[in-house]
Amino acid sequence: MTQITPQPGIMDIALYQGGQSHVAGVADVIKLSSNENPFGPSPKAIEAVRDSAAALHRYPSTDHAGLRSAIAGRHDLDADRIICGVGSDEVLQFVAQAYAGPGDQVIYTEHGFSMYPIIARMAGATPVMVPERDRRVDVDIILAAVTEQTKIVFVTNPGNPTSTMISEGELERLAQGLPGDCLLVLDGAYAEFVEGFDGGAGLVDRFSNVIMTRTFSKVFGLGGMRVGWGYAASEIIDVLNRVRQPFNLSSTALTAAEAAIQDEEYLRFCQSENARLRTWLSEELAKVGVASDASCTNFILARFADQTEAEACDDYLKTQGLIVRKVAGYNLPNALRITVGDEEACRRVVAAITAFKGGNT
Ligand SMILES: *Cc1c(COP(=O)(O)O)cnc(C)c1O
Repeated sequence: MTQITPQPGIMDIALYQGGQSHVAGVADVIKLSSNENPFGPSPKAIEAVRDSAAALHRYPSTDHAGLRSAIAGRHDLDADRIICGVGSDEVLQFVAQAYAGPGDQVIYTEHGFSMYPIIARMAGATPVMVPERDRRVDVDIILAAVTEQTKIVFVTNPGNPTSTMISEGELERLAQGLPGDCLLVLDGAYAEFVEGFDGGAGLVDRFSNVIMTRTFSKVFGLGGMRVGWGYAASEIIDVLNRVRQPFNLSSTALTAAEAAIQDEEYLRFCQSENARLRTWLSEELAKVGVASDASCTNFILARFADQTEAEACDDYLKTQGLIVRKVAGYNLPNALRITVGDEEACRRVVAAITAFKGGNT
C-alpha cells in the first residue's frame, strides 16, 4: 500500500515554543515571556475594534490601502511598496515561499528568531545557522557562509533574544557584500524601541535586494491581532502579493492597526516608559551580580553564572508568579530573557532576583 507522505523537510520542522503564561498553583502571575506591551494596546485601537463589530458580515479590504497609507504616512514611505501580513511572521513566510525552495539555503544567526528555520523548512529550503560574536550579529561571519545556494539571509536588528543591535554601517556592508540574487531580510520587530532608528527603511531604498519587516505585536501591543508588514522594492512586493491570500487580514485587525499607528502620543508613552524601566531593571540586576548587555528592545537578556543557576532562578521566579523566558534553545543556556513590564512588574522581578541571589551566595 502506498503511504500518505508529506513533502520533504516538513517532518524536520520543530514546533515553535511560545512563552509560557501559567504556573500551576500560582494565581497572581505576571507574564514577561513574550515581549508583550505591559500597557496593552492603544485605547483608540480598542475603540476601533469595538466599532468594527457591526460590519463583520463584510469581507475585509484585499489591498489594505487604508493601513498601508497610514503606515506610509507615519514613516514617510511609499505606500505602494508596503505589504501587510498576519503578523510579520506571515510576511517572512511569503519571502521564503517566493524566493527559496528545495536545494536553496537560508542563513540565520546563532541567536536568531526561531521562526527563521521553521519558515525556511516550510518552503522546502535548508536553514543554515551561522555563529554570532559575543551575542552580536557578525557581518563577516555571515558573508563567509554565503554560497551559490544562499537565497535569503535573515537578520533581526535589534536582536531577539540578545537585545543588541548592529550599526547601519554594518548592515550596509552586509547588503553590499551579498550577491545580487540573495535577499537580505531585516526583521525590525523591535525597531520602535530605538530612538531615531528607521528599522532599515533607508537601506531598502538604496538596495534592491533588502526587505524590512515590522510588527504591531510589540510596542503597539497588538500581538493578539496578528498584524505585521514589509517594505521592499516594488518588484519584490509584487511577487509577495502573489503568494498572499486576498483576505489574509481581518477587518478588525486592519482597523486596530490603523488606529494604533495613528496614536502617536500613546506610542511615545510606551517608548519612554520602556526606556526608563529597562535601564532601571538592568542597573538593579547588575547590583546583585546579574549582568546584561545594553538593551535596544523591550526586554533584557539577564546572564547567570551557568545554566544551572539560570534554571534555578527561573524556577524561583515561577514560585513568585513571574514568568520569564529560558533561552537555552537559542544557544544561550546561561541566560533568561525578561520582558520589561510595568513598574510593579519590574520591582517584583528585581525583588525576586535579589532574594534568589542572596539565598544563592
Ligand atoms: C515578536 C517578533 C516578531 C513578530 O512576530 P509577529 O508575527 O509580527 O507577531 C518577528 N520577529 C522577531 C524577532 C520577533 O521577536
